[in-house]
Amino acid sequence: MLPRAITGPIDLHTHSSVSDGTETPTELVDAAVAAGLGAVALTDHDSTAGWREAIAAASGTGLTVIPGMELSTNYGPASVHMLAYLFDPTDVRILAETAQIRDGRLHRAERIVERIAADYDITWEEVLAQSVDGGTIGRPHIADALVVRGYVPTRSAAFESILHWQGGYYEKYYAPSPLEGVRMIVAAGGVPVLAHPATHGRYRVIEEAAVAELVDAGLFGLEIHHRDNTADGRVRLFELATKYNLVVTGSSDYHGEGKLNRLAENTTAPEVLERIIAAGTGSAPSGT
Ligand code: AMP
Ligand code: ZN
Ligand code: FE
Ligand code: FE
Repeated sequence: MLPRAITGPIDLHTHSSVSDGTETPTELVDAAVAAGLGAVALTDHDSTAGWREAIAAASGTGLTVIPGMELSTNYGPASVHMLAYLFDPTDVRILAETAQIRDGRLHRAERIVERIAADYDITWEEVLAQSVDGGTIGRPHIADALVVRGYVPTRSAAFESILHWQGGYYEKYYAPSPLEGVRMIVAAGGVPVLAHPATHGRYRVIEEAAVAELVDAGLFGLEIHHRDNTADGRVRLFELATKYNLVVTGSSDYHGEGKLNRLAENTTAPEVLERIIAAGTGSAPSGT
């Protein structure tokens, strides 16, 4: 059973200004209410700093907030994102690991900016001004500073040029492996779901043996309904979901005005959210 009647669409992947979304957690919740959502998961990159504000903002609105995070992991050369729901935000391993990732991201962004500054007029201070204090820094904040300078018209245009991973300025950042990620999420009472596992570009669908290993460690689902998954990739992912009894989620990956993705452009079935809530023991959905 769901904690209470969730009647509207369910969107399990969104970002606020705590990471690289353009709206505060309160503004994001207001947008979700305005869009008529039944439930929204706040899944900022490597941070739970927005949970309290989002849950407070949802109080009395009828919207259920699912506390979550999008954990960065590295799988060889590929950056693999792992959605995590309903884990204990005070778990020491999660706290230590996410602090290390955020610190690595900060220094990596600084190095990227240093390299870009050799060719463009841009300073680290201008990039920092695009992020909130203590927030998770990423390329989107560099993009926003480049937009302010007028070098690119939009964040997306920056990602297609200067900030592209093959654009000449790209650098990776520290992150645990997907297996370590799944293990730490599960140990903290959380529910791990592989985010957009079949995007084009830097990596293809993660190979079956690796998925099987993650399943053994407690991987719970695959985010198949996501705009960045390729058509071929989705077919393959559905086969894997069936074979390994994984739930299938769908979500927007909303970043406010930072990306074209609109709230609830993809959604998750109520039965799937019910299973996620039943499995998550580290924290609770709002309103329960
Ligand atoms: P980073 O994590 O620093 O390598 O930056 C990649 C992140 O930028 C991904 O999580 C994307 O979701 C995010 N992002 C935000 N806005 C955009 C955009 N307009 N185009 C591409 N990626 C974006
Ligand atoms: Zn993002
Ligand atoms: Fe992602
Ligand atoms: Fe995301």
